[in-house]
Amino acid sequence: MSRSVVAIAGNPNCGKTTLFNSLTGVHAKVGNYPGITVERREAALHLPDGRDAVLLDIPGTYSLSARTAEEQIAISAIAGLNRFQDPDAVIVVVDGTQLARNLYLALQVLELRLKVVVALNMCDVLEREGVTVDTDKLSEELGVAVVRVSAIRGDGIADLKEAVSNVLATDGVSHGVVQRLNGTVGSAVDAVMPEIPEGWSRGDDERRAALATWALLSLDEEDELWEVPEALRETVLRQRRLVEEAGEDLDLQVVSARYQWIDGACARVMGELPGALRRFTDAFDRVLISPIVGFPVFLLVMGMVFEALFTWSAPLIDIVSNVMSVFGESLGAVLPEGLLRDFVTDGLVAGVGAVIVFLPQILMLFLFISLMEDSGYMARAAFLMDRIMKAIGLTGRAFVPMLSGFACAIPAIMATRTMERRRDRMLTMMVVPIMTCSARLPVYTLIIAALYPAPDQAGGKIFGFFSLQALLMVAMYLFSTVLALVAAAVLGRTLFRGESSPLLLELPPYRWPSPFSVIRQMWERSRLFVTEAGTVILTCTIVLWVLLTFPRDLALSRDYAQEAVTIEVTGVAEGVPENAIIDQLSVLGGLEDAERLRASWGGRLGRTLEPVIAPLGFDWKIGVGLIGAFAAREVFISTMGVVYGMGDGVDEETVPLREHLQAEVWPDGRRVYTPLVGLSLMVFFALAAQCMSTLAVVKRETRSYRWPVFLFSYMTGLAWIASFCVYQGGRLLGYC
Ligand code: GDP
Ligand code: MG
Repeated sequence: MSRSVVAIAGNPNCGKTTLFNSLTGVHAKVGNYPGITVERREAALHLPDGRDAVLLDIPGTYSLSARTAEEQIAISAIAGLNRFQDPDAVIVVVDGTQLARNLYLALQVLELRLKVVVALNMCDVLEREGVTVDTDKLSEELGVAVVRVSAIRGDGIADLKEAVSNVLATDGVSHGVVQRLNGTVGSAVDAVMPEIPEGWSRGDDERRAALATWALLSLDEEDELWEVPEALRETVLRQRRLVEEAGEDLDLQVVSARYQWIDGACARVMGELPGALRRFTDAFDRVLISPIVGFPVFLLVMGMVFEALFTWSAPLIDIVSNVMSVFGESLGAVLPEGLLRDFVTDGLVAGVGAVIVFLPQILMLFLFISLMEDSGYMARAAFLMDRIMKAIGLTGRAFVPMLSGFACAIPAIMATRTMERRRDRMLTMMVVPIMTCSARLPVYTLIIAALYPAPDQAGGKIFGFFSLQALLMVAMYLFSTVLALVAAAVLGRTLFRGESSPLLLELPPYRWPSPFSVIRQMWERSRLFVTEAGTVILTCTIVLWVLLTFPRDLALSRDYAQEAVTIEVTGVAEGVPENAIIDQLSVLGGLEDAERLRASWGGRLGRTLEPVIAPLGFDWKIGVGLIGAFAAREVFISTMGVVYGMGDGVDEETVPLREHLQAEVWPDGRRVYTPLVGLSLMVFFALAAQCMSTLAVVKRETRSYRWPVFLFSYMTGLAWIASFCVYQGGRLLGYC
C-alpha cells in the first residue's frame, strides 16, 4: 500500500503547527516546495488502522484566493495542482473561538471535492469559557466529519486519527455548501469552466466550477500566479470585464454568499454563551459599542495607545540609540582611519541603527494591538469604525492596518493580508503610507522646535494656554489621518471602484489576553519588520552613504589637510591652548565635510533639484536632505547635520543644528527657514512616499512594479502640490 498524503490546512494561528506536532510527535522533515523556496514541513503519521501516511503542514491562509506566488501555494498544495502532490485527505483546522472567520477557508476547501476532516481546535478555551459548539450539527451542515481537539493539550488526537483513517478508507468526497450564484456572475463561472485544465478538475464538474470561481477571484492583469494556462487567463479577464460592464461586483457577491451561509450556520451550531459570560459580554457591549459612550471610550483607548507609543517607549529608544552609538564608536576606535571605517560606522552601523531604533515603538504598538485583539476589544473597535470606514469605501478590517500605520507602514501593509478581497487590500495598502509613521516624528520635532516659539517665548501660546508647538504636532497627525481617509475615498471611487467587504459581525466574548499569545504576536511582527524592512533600510543607507561620499575629490582633501597642518603649526608656535586648536580643527573638518558633500553625487543631485523644489520654498541643501529622506525619512536629520558641517552625529534634539537652521540665509540675506518654509516642509514629509522599504514591501505584496510606482508617484505628486499651495498661499497672505 502506498503511503497516503494528508495535508493540514487552516488560517494563520489556528494551531496547525501545534496539531501537526501532536499528531506526529515532531520528527518533521523540512524542505522546500517544488520550484519555490517556501518551507514545507512533513512527517510520518501513523494511523490506527495500521496505515502509514505523510502529514504535510500547509502555510496558513485566510482564503484560497491568491494573487501572489506565495499565496498560490495553499491552493496548489490542497488541490494538488500542477507540480504539487495531490493530497489523499485534508484536515482543515478551525479555531473554535473564531468560528466564522475560520469557516471561510473550510468552505473553499469543501468545494474542491476532497476527503476532508474538520478539526475544531482550541476546545480547551471553549470549555473553559463554557461556549458550546454543536459538532454533530456542524458536521451535518458541512457534510464532513468534525472532530473536537485541543492541539495544545493533545485532546481528541486519537479521534482525529480515527476520522482520518475512516475518510481515507471510503470513496466519498466533500461537496460545496454554498449555492451557486446565478445571474451575470453565474454565467461568468460557466464561461470560465471549459478553460479549467483537465488535470485540475479531474473530470469533476463541481470541482471545475470551484476552480473557475477561484480563477475569477484570483487572476488579473498583473497577478504573479504561475502555471496558469494563457487561455484561462484571457477568458477570466474577458469575463471580469463583462461583469464589470454589467455594473456588478464579482468578488463581493462570491464573498458575501459565503459569509451569508456562515452567519446562518454559526447561529445554528453555536450555543448560547453561558449566563455569566453572556451577561458580562452583553453588559460591556451595551456600553462599548453604543455610539454615545463607545466613541469616547474608543478615543480614550486610542489616546492611551499613543501615549504608550510616544512616551513609554522613549526610554527604550534612548537605550537602543545609546547602545548603537557606543557600538559605532568602539568599532570606529578599532578600525584604521579611512574609507573602510567611514563605511562601517556611517554606512553599516548607522543603517542597522536606523532599523532597530524603531523596534521599541513597533513592539509597543503591537503589544496594544495584540491586547486589543485577544481581549475582544478590537472587534468592537472595528465595529464602531466600520460605519465611518464604510462611508469612505474602506472595510472595517482596514482599521488595524491604519492604526499600525502610526508606528510604521511596513507591518501595517503586511497586516492587510487578512482581507479576502483584492480591492480592499489594495486600497488599504495605497493609503496606509500616508499615516504619520514614527519616522516622520523626529523631522517634525526638529522643524517645530527650530522654527516655532516654545511655550515660554513670545507667541508660543495660543489663547494664552495651548502650546503652539504641541498644537502643530497634533495638527500634523490630524492632517495625515484626514488625508489618508480622503485619499481612500477618492481612490475607492476611481481606481478601486466597488463596495467594501461586509464586516463579519462576530463579536467574540471578552476574555483575558494570554501573555504567551501576546508575546508571540509581538515577536512575529517585529521579526517581519526586521527581516523585511531591515534589509531594505540597510541597503538604502549604504547606497546613500555612497552617494554622499563619492566622488572623492582628492585635491580638495589635500587643501584641507594643508590648512589643518597650518592651523596646528601656527597655533603651537603662537602658544594657542590645545583645546582651542582642537576646536578650530573640528570647525575645519565640518567645513571640509560640507564641501565634500556639495561636490558629491548627492550634492550635485540636490542642486539639480533646486529649480523643482524652489517653488516650495526649499534650497538645494534641503534638496540633499530630501534625497537622504527618500531612503528613510529620519535620515533627513543626519544628512542636514552633514550639510551644515556638523557631522552626522546630530539628532533632532541637537541645539546647534537648530541654530544653524535659524541662521541659514539665501544669497540675498532672506532667512531660508521661515515658519512658512517649515510648514511647507512638514506637509511635504507628511505626504511624500519617502520610504524605500515601504515601496519594497508593496512590491513584494503585490508582486508588481506597477503599484509601488503608482504609490510613489501619487503620494509624491500630492506632496509637491500641497507644499506648493502652503508656501505660495502663505506668501500671498503676506507671510514669508
Ligand atoms: P499555526 O499558525 O496555525 O501553525 O498555529 P500554531 O500551531 O503556531 O498555534 C498558534 C497559537 O495557538 C500558539 O500560541 C499555540 O500555543 C496556540 N494553540 C494551538 N492550539 C491550541 C489549543 O488547542 N488550545 C489553546 N489554548 N491554544 C492553542
Ligand atoms: Mg505554523
